[in-house]
Amino acid sequence: MKIYSVCEYCQNVFAENEIEGVEGIIELKGVCNSCEQELRDCESFGSIYKGEQVNEF
Ligand SMILES: [Zn+2]
Repeated sequence: MKIYSVCEYCQNVFAENEIEGVEGIIELKGVCNSCEQELRDCESFGSIYKGEQVNEF
């Protein structure tokens, strides 16, 4: 199973993990390092760090 972490701001896949022996793809919404850095500079974005599962298989 592949797990892709997709940045919800720039849409880049910023992390990729694989679980052997399991079929399927999971996409996780998150924030990549560069966007996170920018958001930290802007503050007031506390809720976006949770990450959200948007798509399963
Ligand atoms: Zn990003």
